[in-house]
Amino acid sequence: MYPNWILQRAYLTPNRVGLTFEGKQWTFEEIKEISVQRAGQLAALGIDRGSRVAILGENDADTIFVMYACMHLQCEMVILNRKLTKSELAYQIEDAQVTTVLVHDQDMPLLPENVDFRLFSEIENSDWHSIEIRKEWQAEQTISIMYTSGTTGFPKGVRQTVENHQSNALSSVLNIGLSEKDVWLCAVPLFHISGFSILVRSLLYGNEVKLYRKFDSELIAQDIISGRVTHISLVAVMLERILHVLEEREAKASPAFKLVLAGGGSFPIDYLKRAGERGMKVLQTYGMTETSSQTATLPAEDAFRKIGSAGKPLFFNQIKILGAKEPFEEGEICIRGPHVTPGYIGRFENNPSTEDGWLHTGDIGYLDDEGYLYVVDRRSDLIISGGENIYPAEVENVLMGHPAIKEAGVCGMEDDTWGQVPVAFVVLKKDAAIEEILEYCKGHLAKYKVPKNVYVVDALPRNASNKLMRRKLKELLS
Ligand code: ATP
Ligand code: MG
Repeated sequence: MYPNWILQRAYLTPNRVGLTFEGKQWTFEEIKEISVQRAGQLAALGIDRGSRVAILGENDADTIFVMYACMHLQCEMVILNRKLTKSELAYQIEDAQVTTVLVHDQDMPLLPENVDFRLFSEIENSDWHSIEIRKEWQAEQTISIMYTSGTTGFPKGVRQTVENHQSNALSSVLNIGLSEKDVWLCAVPLFHISGFSILVRSLLYGNEVKLYRKFDSELIAQDIISGRVTHISLVAVMLERILHVLEEREAKASPAFKLVLAGGGSFPIDYLKRAGERGMKVLQTYGMTETSSQTATLPAEDAFRKIGSAGKPLFFNQIKILGAKEPFEEGEICIRGPHVTPGYIGRFENNPSTEDGWLHTGDIGYLDDEGYLYVVDRRSDLIISGGENIYPAEVENVLMGHPAIKEAGVCGMEDDTWGQVPVAFVVLKKDAAIEEILEYCKGHLAKYKVPKNVYVVDALPRNASNKLMRRKLKELLS
């Protein structure tokens, strides 16, 4: 058994500020009181203890209070991605078999038809039932269910338990350390594990979260310059925009600012260098929905020595490369540890998430001779051309180094001679001739990796997590 995080935190440090948002702040005691009240209101509206509900809301204090209320009721929260289309949301709501969707009033227009829902305003204005709030939670209780991004296929609903979240937060703090003055800026979505895990860490560590409704590079850069925040979680494009502001202002991060946790995919080396020049430590991480956020993280002191690596597994976690006997041998990355999901729900319920305790990630990678992980690419996107392996990510990275190319996506095309050949789709930021792009590739890539064709497009197919869907590129070919 583990303590109810919200009650325990309010008991331990009631007067510490736990949340700030748009000029308002709440102590942990206030967070507890509001969330307990919301739990009573949800109960009055017929939400049963332990039932499965969905939540659809923007990054907003109200969304957090409703989430915490569901946690008090020990509901399984399906946290919905508000960037999805109606039909994608309808699929997840149906797949998860939720009783009700709890919706932020402003997100009402996003909701698909024929769904049972309650608006946040309805909850806030409802009567209140006196309910028993359990002081303890079981380790295996499901706290949240999040759908994977659906980059390689159908999104899968992943169970994230008390133990999963908790062990992840503990592993993380063993890696990066803790001070009661730490403030974590959250501008990544709460519906992703990157955002939700900031909340979990705040409850466990007793730290303030500075929440942003939307990513705002100017305001966030200011928080970093002034030292108002000490930690921030970012994906690559956000870091780039913040760097741009710092560079324009010729400003540096405050010495009080500790680190950027960099997730969601690999970060261009150029960004890491630029961040270093601005006094920002960037910790590259590797993780996924199935591991309730980070599995491996690269310590800042290794950022340049091990450039491109996602670091070593965090304390409680293990990583192995399937089939690899030597360092540098590539294979599927497998993960074991208390942070690994016990399984999926809905359509994928019967697909085991692990084999002999190991999660098979579908990602290809290798460990170097010091045990640092390098993530190479998705197994499903591998192109085999004349018996040679080509990873689209490598070719895309080269293309993105071309001054006229803004975005690049590479996939395999069937070929009579080679089996498959790589082809590229690019979005340009200024004019460039295809021949010239191909010449550039020849200067940076082995011949068999050079794309056979380069197609200029207006936009690349991306999912709601902004990830490139290479399987959709293939469809463009046919
Ligand atoms: P689906 O499983 O539905 O195809 P998804 O895997 O994109 O979607 P997420 O759980 O959101 O869904 O993303 C996790 C994936 O993101 C990882 O499996 C990996 O492919 C990629 N990723 C995460 N961190 C890194 C990293 N540091 N370097 C490279 N890729 C990364
Ligand atoms: Mg995945």
